[in-house]
Amino acid sequence: MNEFALIDRYFARPVRDPAVRLGVGDDAAIVAPTPGCELAISVDMLVEGRHFLPGVDPEALGHKTLAVNLSDLAAMGATPRFALLAGALPDADEAWLDAFSRGLFALAERFDVTLIGGDTTRGPRNLCVTIIGELPAGTAITRSGARAGDDIWVSGMLGDAMLALAAMQARTVIDATTLASLRERLERPEPRIALGERLRGIATAALDVSDGLVGDLAHILDASHVGADVDLAAVPRSATLEAKLAAERPLALACLLAGGDDYELCFTAPAAARARIGAIALELCMPVTRIGAIRDGVGLVVRDEDGVASTDVPRGFDHFRT
Ligand code: ADP
Ligand code: MG
Repeated sequence: MNEFALIDRYFARPVRDPAVRLGVGDDAAIVAPTPGCELAISVDMLVEGRHFLPGVDPEALGHKTLAVNLSDLAAMGATPRFALLAGALPDADEAWLDAFSRGLFALAERFDVTLIGGDTTRGPRNLCVTIIGELPAGTAITRSGARAGDDIWVSGMLGDAMLALAAMQARTVIDATTLASLRERLERPEPRIALGERLRGIATAALDVSDGLVGDLAHILDASHVGADVDLAAVPRSATLEAKLAAERPLALACLLAGGDDYELCFTAPAAARARIGAIALELCMPVTRIGAIRDGVGLVVRDEDGVASTDVPRGFDHFRT
């Protein structure tokens, strides 16, 4: 199978979106933006051995490759429209390509995303998606709008993805059934697109938690020039993680506060928006939990279950920390 047959077989699909004037097959794609909208554009790369383990289920990897990009759009409040896929692959393994593309397109179809192009080359496995979304002009939710007095909210539950990874690396023990469900959180994250869209005009700042709550929230604080207090007891966690907090506290705290790969949204909003946010959570059947408040000043203080303030909390993941 040559490069072009591979692209044609696995990545060129009939285009249904009339906004895609020209898709896979030419030197560039042509799309027509919706009048009155701005484009939100982001790129995320997944490298084998760094973002995913060699031998990971290729269908799950196809899902995750797109999901982590959709998550960035969710954090801006954008509606996903188009994606480009640049991939380096060690070989043209048909079973692998079949499963990977199935996982990718299943998620793309759920969110009406059209794959409009990409690049394919031989090399160590590395997958890079560029995602393009839209939102009404001026409504993007940035990191810089948090104000003193705002509540801090988190969707879903935090820490399970890192807990799964810790169990897979034999750093903790979790029974097989429980681990299977935690692995879903690690390998098939659900981008919170619907939540992001509904938070336009409500949230003052937002981001997706990909590198751990504490490190990621710090980005909002830096961009907004504010400080924050977070209540550890309020940070939403699964029953499995709760049990680990009692038995293996350092590991469980690291998962909850600095675990990577959660892909939940962390956002701020004025207290006056509490009822509206509660209604959105009900509508989406998704827990959305208030975990603290923005204040003037700098820095993040996490109060433990006894109300004791700690500034020495585990930090988020940083590829280049020395
Ligand atoms: P060029 O040489 O002009 O860069 P390529 O030969 O790399 O073009 O790609 C041919 C066409 O296939 C282009 O339209 C490109 O966008 C598309 N393409 C290549 N790889 C992928 C991929 N993995 N997924 C989707 N489209 C792809
Ligand atoms: Mg090319």
